[in-house]
Amino acid sequence: MIVVMNPGVSKEEIEEVEKRLKNLGFGVHRSTGENRTIIGAIGAPKEDARDALQVMPSVEKVVIISQPFKMVSREFKQERTSFNVGGVEIGGQGVVLMAGPCAVEGRDAYLEAAEAVKKAGAQILRGGAYKPRTSPYSFQGLEEEGLKIMAEAREKTGMPFITEVLDQHSVEVVAQYADIVQVGTRNMQNFKLLRELGFIDRPVLVKRGMSATIEEWLMAAEYIVSGGNSMVILCERGIRTFETYTRNTLDISAVPIAKELSHLPVFVDPSHGTGNWRWVAPMSLAAVAAGADGLLVEVHPRPTEALSDGAQSLTPEKFQQMIELVEKVAQSIDRSLQPAV
Ligand code: PEP
Ligand code: MN
Repeated sequence: MIVVMNPGVSKEEIEEVEKRLKNLGFGVHRSTGENRTIIGAIGAPKEDARDALQVMPSVEKVVIISQPFKMVSREFKQERTSFNVGGVEIGGQGVVLMAGPCAVEGRDAYLEAAEAVKKAGAQILRGGAYKPRTSPYSFQGLEEEGLKIMAEAREKTGMPFITEVLDQHSVEVVAQYADIVQVGTRNMQNFKLLRELGFIDRPVLVKRGMSATIEEWLMAAEYIVSGGNSMVILCERGIRTFETYTRNTLDISAVPIAKELSHLPVFVDPSHGTGNWRWVAPMSLAAVAAGADGLLVEVHPRPTEALSDGAQSLTPEKFQQMIELVEKVAQSIDRSLQPAV
């Protein structure tokens, strides 16, 4: 249930409504907009509770949200969410390109990759310092050392960076370095982790779980937003189906659906979505045509030497060629590419 306050109400009137909601057994989340305040009442909606609020003179209207996800829904907020990360607008008119290798493999290699993706036209760096690997014998990432290397790359290139957090114990260290914190597909329903991410002052990109429905994905975002962090990005990265020709089946339809249901920015990861660099460009074009606000792409200067996901990594040259096509698609739907930082 949401309570929309009249424009220009006083702080005391807002507090009075919040007090009444708490007395009725609701959790309260205040959202202060330019013109008016909206109060999210978290808990099962009750008809009589709605009436008790509706009669208050400071209240314009009370809306019962039909979806199980509340604060991330378009019913709660009509305008699209956008925010600025190190000079890059996420969720605005411009399509954002996040790119870099799957994992941070070493200082020199990462700095080389960072310069290359910048030159190609990306605005945000990616790279894994904590890697969720299927095999315990595979490269697990450089951990904090990797974060330090990414911070150095940010200093050298001026580009903000995104990196994955694997568990709630490393939220603090990852948030200390990273500009955007990534929740991987395997962790999309790690509710303790999601709760922790509701308390941080960093945007969080939530990958769709490989077996998650769109509703479950939005509920994961709801965990973070309801905890107080409204800077959330949804990212479709492919789901498990019976198809084995691709690593995952990239669900492009999730893009317009998520954008219809939610005000949050929606990104697509065509690299994990396909598992093969040859399909990364066509799926990127499809994603932008479908309304994606940005792409998260694996790019490696020498994919054959990559310690993880080389098969799906583009070379910087191929990435640059792809960007030229992405820009054309963006322009054809009255969007543009975000300018470089
Ligand atoms: C990644 O982006 O590095 C990653 C591991 O992705 P996913 O969680 O989508 O598999
Ligand atoms: Mn990867």
